[in-house]
Amino acid sequence: MKIVDEFFGCDVFGPAAMQRYLPHEIYKKMIDVMERGKELPKEIADTVANAMKDWAMDKGATHYTHWFQPMTGITAEKHDAFINPTGPNSVISDFRGKELIKGEPDASSFPSGGLRATFEARGYTAWDPTSFAFVKEKTLYIPTLFCSYDGSSLDKKTPLLRSIDALDKAAVRLLNLMGYHTKKITITVGPEQEYFLIDENLFKQRLDLMVTGRTLFGAPPVKGQELDDHYFGNIDERVKAYMEEVDQELWKLGVFAKTEHKEVAPCQFELAPVFSSVNSANDQNQITMDVLKRVARHHGFVCLLHEKPFEGVNGSGKHNNWSFSTDSHENLLEPGDDPKDNIRFLTILAAIIKGVDEYQDLLRLSVASAGNDHRLGANEAPPAIISIYLGDELTAILEAIEQGKEYVENTNRKLELGVSALPPISKDSTDRNRTSPFAFTGNKFEFRMLGSALNISCPNTILNTIVAEELTQFADELENYAPEQRTEHVISMIQKTLKEHKRILFSGNGYSEEWRQEAKKRGLQELKTTADALPHYTDPKNLAMFEKHKVYSANELHARENILLENYYQVVLIEARTMAYMLRKLILPAVFEYEAKLATIIQTKKASGINSPLEEKILFNINEPLEFVSNHLETLENLIEKVPASEKEKAQYAADELLPLMEAIRTLTDSIEQNIPKDFWPLPDYNDLLFKSVQ
Ligand code: ADP
Ligand code: MG
Repeated sequence: MKIVDEFFGCDVFGPAAMQRYLPHEIYKKMIDVMERGKELPKEIADTVANAMKDWAMDKGATHYTHWFQPMTGITAEKHDAFINPTGPNSVISDFRGKELIKGEPDASSFPSGGLRATFEARGYTAWDPTSFAFVKEKTLYIPTLFCSYDGSSLDKKTPLLRSIDALDKAAVRLLNLMGYHTKKITITVGPEQEYFLIDENLFKQRLDLMVTGRTLFGAPPVKGQELDDHYFGNIDERVKAYMEEVDQELWKLGVFAKTEHKEVAPCQFELAPVFSSVNSANDQNQITMDVLKRVARHHGFVCLLHEKPFEGVNGSGKHNNWSFSTDSHENLLEPGDDPKDNIRFLTILAAIIKGVDEYQDLLRLSVASAGNDHRLGANEAPPAIISIYLGDELTAILEAIEQGKEYVENTNRKLELGVSALPPISKDSTDRNRTSPFAFTGNKFEFRMLGSALNISCPNTILNTIVAEELTQFADELENYAPEQRTEHVISMIQKTLKEHKRILFSGNGYSEEWRQEAKKRGLQELKTTADALPHYTDPKNLAMFEKHKVYSANELHARENILLENYYQVVLIEARTMAYMLRKLILPAVFEYEAKLATIIQTKKASGINSPLEEKILFNINEPLEFVSNHLETLENLIEKVPASEKEKAQYAADELLPLMEAIRTLTDSIEQNIPKDFWPLPDYNDLLFKSVQ
């Protein structure tokens, strides 16, 4: 086997490939474009396109695609061959600058939330040179942004790039006011990805898994995760072979896949990458999800990225580790050794605390989806209430600052702001609480509410923008003070922020009912479902903030809200239809068959003068819930037919009418399943799925 450093990133058109394929002058210009997040100058576009094509063809590519991330949440691609006709029977391989810079896919079938009239189907994709092109399966992938004819964003990436600019601008301005000479900041993200592996043959026997990604029925297995024996357990050979291939594929594509382990639930695993800049982390996470799914098939598995494939065992999340650092590579969320840096760290911390408190609704909705609603608040993932965990040490430091007292460390070392260094905040003291939605982990924040299937651009766009807003407010205030007065004023700003926003800090058990009550008392928001959360996108305060930082226009925001509400409704509707279909076509016929068999036994025995109390009891236990299922099914079929008028009403309808009824049907059907012999049950059950999948 080749060693990693020989092939890492070999399928990426990164600096090494550029240096080899581009004239030196153009290579230098290209590096500048990438470092400064600029557009590609027209005069070098043809040369770059040609070099990229030569490189890709040397790697065996025959096609290229503008790869983009529309509002459907998954990546989209349309493949074009590198050929141009030169005569009736001849072609040359060709790829021009204009094809590299701009593509024109027919956008009419992508959701636009009304941003594009149907007669104006044109959408544009524009190369984002800050993310590297790569070759995968004989195709050159060019990461692009996707927008409508008038330039409105139709994708998930454009707002992310705008939010990076917003945070960069705000942070650089504030830091310079505070006396630092920072020219640029870089936002870093490391998303930890959870997933399930299920045997492909079993998967294909479950319509619910195939269509909706989750099981809509299924009595509990004989063993769940009670013994905690799956977490970090020995990795089975078949899974190990799978992980090895995933790593190889990802390394070739320049993804820093690092840690792989078993997760809590049976058949559940995690892959954690080394962090990178948020733009590339976003694309790399999309690549990772794609590779996880594609490679699974080579090993007879299906990789499930749904947030809650199985009831009763943990679902899958994605922890978004987020931080930002200066152009001299100082992590701004690292307390540091230099006393004068205390203030900088604490100012940024205060801005984050203020932002998270003021924009709880946005953070909540940034992770809202039909799938993730099954996790949040279900004793396995953080609740739908936003709060921040800072660890005991940092909390004590902040309390002392707020009250204007001296903080005395265990070792009796006193902390004076600006004079002595903050005590090192040990990772141990910050990493213990796994129940917090937003936890400080020593040198970064870990946003833990994301679902496993989510495109990470939305939560990061929102995080970046709210922190940009708070840093801007701080800078506006600080500008009124002379440089020598600023340190003192910063301390009072931190104190004021802590007084006003400490309600968002919580160190206890986020999964407990007491916390829900306590959070209510503190006035924190609990937006339980996606239908509750999404309409806050366009609350006046949120609209104003996004417009101020040029991250979303009002139109884009309204469009986004509508697309996501409609999507939520459609997802639930498809689940409801799948449930009705499976009941009518598979489950009810099987149940009737077994009932008939039992009835025959009872009759036969009766004819011979023998009682059959046991058979009668089982028949009764099946028949009683069955009557309810049958009634509910009719109601469900009627509900499916009704279509509420607006997107908002549709989402609310899904949350209030469809889902509760589906839940009731499931509970009843699962109780019937427990009384039906395995041979009669028409689906692989939970024992099959969870224990026969990876052996
Ligand atoms: P663990 O949680 O397993 O102890 P770490 O805390 O080191 O490991 O890292 C967890 C995740 O956080 C990894 O994906 C890592 O790359 C990421 N991470 C570490 N430092 C940063 C940072 N400064 N910015 C963003 N992500 C980071
Ligand atoms: Mg972690």
